[in-house]
Amino acid sequence: MNDHVLVINAGSSSLKYSLIDAGSGEAAAAGVVERIGEPEGVFRHRGPDGETRTTRPIGSHEDALRAAIDAFEEHGPSLDGIEIAAVGHRVVHGGSRFGDPALINEDLIDEVSDLVPLAPLHNPANLEGMRVAGRLFPDLPQVAVFDTAFHQTLPPEAYTYAVPRGWLAEHGIRRYGFHGTSHAFVSEQAAQLLGREPADVNVIVLHLGNGCSAAAVRGGKSVDTSMGLTPLEGLVMGTRSGDVDPAIHAYLAREAGLSLDEIDHALNFESGLKGLAGENDFRELSRQREAGDEQARLAFDVYCYRIRKYVGAYYSVLGKVDAIVFTAGVGQNSAEVRSASLEGLEGLGIEIDAERNAESSDEARAVSTKDSRVAVLVIPTNEEWQIAREALKLVRS
Ligand code: AMP
Repeated sequence: MNDHVLVINAGSSSLKYSLIDAGSGEAAAAGVVERIGEPEGVFRHRGPDGETRTTRPIGSHEDALRAAIDAFEEHGPSLDGIEIAAVGHRVVHGGSRFGDPALINEDLIDEVSDLVPLAPLHNPANLEGMRVAGRLFPDLPQVAVFDTAFHQTLPPEAYTYAVPRGWLAEHGIRRYGFHGTSHAFVSEQAAQLLGREPADVNVIVLHLGNGCSAAAVRGGKSVDTSMGLTPLEGLVMGTRSGDVDPAIHAYLAREAGLSLDEIDHALNFESGLKGLAGENDFRELSRQREAGDEQARLAFDVYCYRIRKYVGAYYSVLGKVDAIVFTAGVGQNSAEVRSASLEGLEGLGIEIDAERNAESSDEARAVSTKDSRVAVLVIPTNEEWQIAREALKLVRS
């Protein structure tokens, strides 16, 4: 059976791809083209013979995907030898319209275009990826897998903002949530690790990467999540503030004369860990903190405190919690974030085992004590594999 899916994640100036066996999750090859449209593009392709890296100008997303196709021929594996079942696209915003993956056609492209105002940084690039792949792989089914889709099961009391009622109908103002592909993958893996059916477990997922979000997942369905209308709300992130008083905009506009665009930019790109400590890379922040830097210490404390607040909130949303799962770059690798965020929560049945937590590993594992009522798990996320699985399921259905 041919289970390979070409997964494409098109960003504004980058294009990532991987050719994945949706059954095993194994990537036959993967690569990334960065700095598209700049004088010097960077292209890396990892195939059976290892990684190759080249730098040259790459003018457009179409040139980027052509370069990837050439790399498959030059460095393997040859696409002639692999039957591809589908192309799966990561699409950031599916609004209220898409609760499931969908086949890409002209109607879908129109609908995703209508959602551009909600995700001006991401959806245009995702659309470009779809158009380009449609041209270069005209015979393959193309599937859109939405970052928002997993959270379409949120109940109205969780997704509704207490703002004038007409804003939802007129402007689509509600919580959508993001990182859904990761939350879906990781919560299912958590059930597997616990040896139970996803329908029988309640999980709090903490996706802590450059972007960070928490999700409360009851019986395999997302019932609350920390990101909202846009990926700015919720946890503290690398450069994003997460939750702030919404009056900050009006206050800064009136008192500091900042424009809405300036404030929006500052909250998205100059805030979070970077805003507090001048550093958004967590490894570097940890080094600075260990060297005694006070701002780095405060940034770390604010970051972990916000996680702890969301764990408490989602604990009461779920009532009974079987597992708390850490994933993504920081969640998988930072033992100190895991222990600082959950320290002192024995009363809630959450007990981290210091030794297990300190071990570094790429495997999914438990880092809680044997007696901990709530399992604390570290599970590597794999959004590409999840996109491949969902795309394949759709084209096979
Ligand atoms: P992601 O968006 O999942 O790629 O995560 C990126 C974040 O993970 C960056 O802030 C990295 O500094 C952080 N990260 C990656 N590896 C480690 C590590 N070993 N320890 C702490 N943070 C890490």
